Amino acid sequence: MRTQVLIIGGGVTGTGIARDLALRGVHCVLAEARDINAGASGGNHGLLHSGGRYVFSDPEAAAECREEGLILKRLAPHCIENTGGIFAAVEGDDEQYAADFGTYCARAGLSATPLEPAQAREMEPVLSDRVFAAWEVEDASVDPFRLSLDNMAQAVTLGSRFLRRTRVVGFEREGGRITAARLVETRTGREVRVEADVIVNAAGAWAGEMAALAGGHIEMLYSKGTLLITHSRMAKRVINRLRPPGDGDILVPGGTVSILGTTSVRVDRLDDIRPSIAEVDRNIDQMVGLIPSLETTRYVRAYAGVRPLVKSGKGGSDRTVSRGFTLLGHEEDGLENFVTITSGKLTTYRLMAERTANLVCERLGVTAPCLTRTEPLPQAAECRWTEPGVAPKIWLKGHDRDDQLLCECEMVPVSAVDQIIDSFSADGGAPRMKAIGRRSRVGKGSCQGSTCGMRLTGHMYERGMFEGDEGLDALREFIGERWRGKRSILWGPQMSQAELQEAIHCGLFDLELGNDNGMEE
Ligand SMILES: Cc1cc2nc3c(=O)[nH]c(=O)nc-3n(C[C@H](O)[C@H](O)[C@H](O)COP(=O)(O)OP(=O)(O)OC[C@H]3O[C@@H](n4cnc5c(N)ncnc54)[C@H](O)[C@@H]3O)c2cc1C
Repeated sequence: MRTQVLIIGGGVTGTGIARDLALRGVHCVLAEARDINAGASGGNHGLLHSGGRYVFSDPEAAAECREEGLILKRLAPHCIENTGGIFAAVEGDDEQYAADFGTYCARAGLSATPLEPAQAREMEPVLSDRVFAAWEVEDASVDPFRLSLDNMAQAVTLGSRFLRRTRVVGFEREGGRITAARLVETRTGREVRVEADVIVNAAGAWAGEMAALAGGHIEMLYSKGTLLITHSRMAKRVINRLRPPGDGDILVPGGTVSILGTTSVRVDRLDDIRPSIAEVDRNIDQMVGLIPSLETTRYVRAYAGVRPLVKSGKGGSDRTVSRGFTLLGHEEDGLENFVTITSGKLTTYRLMAERTANLVCERLGVTAPCLTRTEPLPQAAECRWTEPGVAPKIWLKGHDRDDQLLCECEMVPVSAVDQIIDSFSADGGAPRMKAIGRRSRVGKGSCQGSTCGMRLTGHMYERGMFEGDEGLDALREFIGERWRGKRSILWGPQMSQAELQEAIHCGLFDLELGNDNGMEE
């Protein structure tokens, strides 16, 4: 296969780069070892930062977040819920920091309006009556799945290719040039060779590994963060603890739920990243002073992601852009056509993609300007099902009695699932259940796959997508993914739900849920 640019990694950065380059007329192939947003882009808080979190520690990154947040709200409004946000402090928090917050915001060019404690509590009744200071900011909540899917969908429409479940395993190098990349389709083991003029390493936390394979060097640190999903939405706005950034200090609304987090734990390895009980406890303990009901609310799931942190770039000619993200041209490694983009934030992904595409175009001799700063992100029909509430609205309007619900918690009908399945046929591959769950709300409701998992399996058998025991293996994989996130929050109603699920899946299908011994006590 031949292309102008091979992009490694299908997170928000890689898919954003694919769209940016495609809009400049550059042909790309994007290879993703697993699936869209399988890394940090699918394991984050979903907060479109106003910048308020960084005004004290990193005003430059705060200003960057503010500007990018405004651009995304204008150009990709369908991926964003413009909730607004509140920073609030409770007795015991640093009074000086709370008083100076407005000055820090002004210094970084951010708007922040002071609120009386009573006013803040009226706006968000979940806040404690011990709140003594509050500010209103321009935070919002963003759907990272929709963002990446829509970016990739437009790149594909413009001629790019997406290779899902295709891992880059090596490079062929002649002097300072990488002439081709060696890839393996993880499902079939088939080898694929891609010749490209430029290779972009957007592999997130795996960027160090990719650079090493190419003969380059990046020293990476990995910081794991755990987040919790509440059963229902607890507040209209994003609620931040008014204090310097720390663990468990943000609650973000995500459609019908709220997301509480996050922790920061240094890890050495990238395999088997999962939320731990200690991190779950820490998130709740840290935020319960500001939002007392977090102590008794039902949590449906926890999940974790890894932030890639670059310890140091190598050499003077590499480009290190702001403290937020790192763009490396690898000249010091003697590489002419290899580029790494890593670290940063979901909020600034577009800017990261723009800067990367500028460097790539410089190397390709392409002079077309970046359009993502001005062109709206189109909404691909098959990407809309990640948004809570969309499937029920469309289903209820349709009044089609034959369009059965596969997922009752999130009201996802057969027609929505079929649209997702059909969208895969363009690239020849059939999706597994996990891939459908990634592109919809299936499995994300209160039952966490107990009922919809079985229905989806049955539907896929009916469509001829499974033979023999294949469906049972796929169901085990689907349920296993949900179980990963439930095992650290097993108390109260979620424990009862898990017991019901065990009875159904083990009793009816002999599916073993937890057959590894990695559970923390
Ligand atoms: C806990 C947590 C909370 C966060 N919260 C927020 C937030 O609220 N707001 C915000 O703005 N930012 C947040 N972030 C940061 C944000 O998630 C990341 O900046 C962003 O998702 C990084 O995207 P990426 O595409 O660079 O990396 P990733 O999403 O990790 O993508 C890299 C991809 O590369 C693929 N890959 C790896 N190796 C190979 C290979 N050999 N071949 C092919 N593919 C490969 C992986 O499978 C992966 O899908 C958070 C991060 C974490 C961890």
